[in-house]
Amino acid sequence: MTTPWPYFPVFLRLQGARVLLVGGGEIAARKLRLLRRAQPTIEVVARELNSEVAAAVAEGAALRIATDFESSQVQGCRLVVAATDDPQLNAAVAAAAQRAGVPVNVVDDPELSSFITPAIVDRAPLLLAISSAGAAPVMVRRLRERLEAQLPVAYGRVADWMQTQRQRVKQAAGQRARRIWEQFLDGSGAEQLLSGNVAGADVALSTLLAEEATPGEVYLVGAGPGDPELLTFRALRLMQQCDVVLYDALISPAILELVRRDAERVHVGKRRAKHTLPQEQINEELVRRARAGQRVLRLKGGDPFVFGRGGEEIERLAAAGIPFQVVPGITAASGCAAYAGIPLTHRDHAQACVFVTGHPQADGTLNLHWDMLTRRGQTVVIYMGLTALPQLCAELIAHGLPGEWPAAVVENGTRADQRVIVATLAELPQRVGRPAQAGPSLVIVGQVVGLRDRLNWFAGQPETLTPSPPTVVNGEKA
Ligand code: SAH
Repeated sequence: MTTPWPYFPVFLRLQGARVLLVGGGEIAARKLRLLRRAQPTIEVVARELNSEVAAAVAEGAALRIATDFESSQVQGCRLVVAATDDPQLNAAVAAAAQRAGVPVNVVDDPELSSFITPAIVDRAPLLLAISSAGAAPVMVRRLRERLEAQLPVAYGRVADWMQTQRQRVKQAAGQRARRIWEQFLDGSGAEQLLSGNVAGADVALSTLLAEEATPGEVYLVGAGPGDPELLTFRALRLMQQCDVVLYDALISPAILELVRRDAERVHVGKRRAKHTLPQEQINEELVRRARAGQRVLRLKGGDPFVFGRGGEEIERLAAAGIPFQVVPGITAASGCAAYAGIPLTHRDHAQACVFVTGHPQADGTLNLHWDMLTRRGQTVVIYMGLTALPQLCAELIAHGLPGEWPAAVVENGTRADQRVIVATLAELPQRVGRPAQAGPSLVIVGQVVGLRDRLNWFAGQPETLTPSPPTVVNGEKA
């Protein structure tokens, strides 16, 4: 799940607006210094002014409207800041502002504040605002130091110049404008500006505008089984540079978070029966968007070439002459096995490993090569095998595997809510039950499952599938 935000980040226009600052000491002076940058009319209420605040008033940068606070002073203000060392007075100011519906900040009191001020990296007009919502100020400070060190001081100048060229680029490049700017920033253009060579930047931009529009392309990317840390570098890079993402139901929210924020998101997910877009339409959509010049990220769970129909999608692209690249991902078998402490092969127990789909045919039957699957000395990994689990286990036993043969189900593998159920082939279906709404689950069959006892390292969740159907005892939910 995505974490809720305690505060919504915004940049507020204050130019010409009234801001009430209650307090005239050190703390108030600090706030005043920041507020002035946004050019509001600052009205100060304070009995005493320290030299800095007094100087600001003398210069006309702030107006001292009273010595004592009254609730009427907040009327019509865009912001109110309570910066006195008197907690009671601060609380009174906060209450008055809240009543009047004016955003208020009480210095060092997030409880009373309706807004907080972030740490700022100032490369105006470029401003980076950083906040931990009060959770970890030291971390915020560290981060700010790092960003300060990384962002050239002249970065603001780059942004300023880009502003002057926005109209021109928009007119000349239309839809392509964003890509032009990216190339400009990644190329020599930005460098020229940083070194003060405006004419050089102009030439760089003109060159980019004169170039032929690059055709769209498709990135078929495996996102792995769920833990975002299992993404490849290449996956992450392409996720950061796409214009649109078409993603499956298997993609975890934590991974989707890492896709470039302004990319369009299209959910084409299919989980068993709940097909959202039929495969043919997905294929056509990829072609259509790439033809329109978009960089299309086709993001798939696990590896795109393992039970992912990735092959079909790029066959269509290849036929249409659309450039594509394929990025492998960690397939569910590797991810689940590693995070469950079950080696897929082992010198003593498994010299081979078979990946197989346990998805039943339309008529409910399972057409698998049972003779091959029941050989000894191998591990069998079954994708999409949860629905037909009882049938699967029964067939494996009927074709010669012992009922005591070790088997496991891994649900939500590699995610924080991973669950592993270990049992014998005979007992597994009953141990798993019939979960109404299980997460993606993988079945692993073979002696290697027994190694988990010693090799398990990942915490995950206790041993039941979620949410289990309520057990009914004597007509009551247990
Ligand atoms: N291309 C994917 C597989 C897609 S088929 C891959 O390489 O992993 C979908 C099946 O993959 C699910 O039904 C389930 O069996 C398995 N699966 C995918 N992610 C999983 C996960 N995090 N935990 C357990 N099984 C998973």
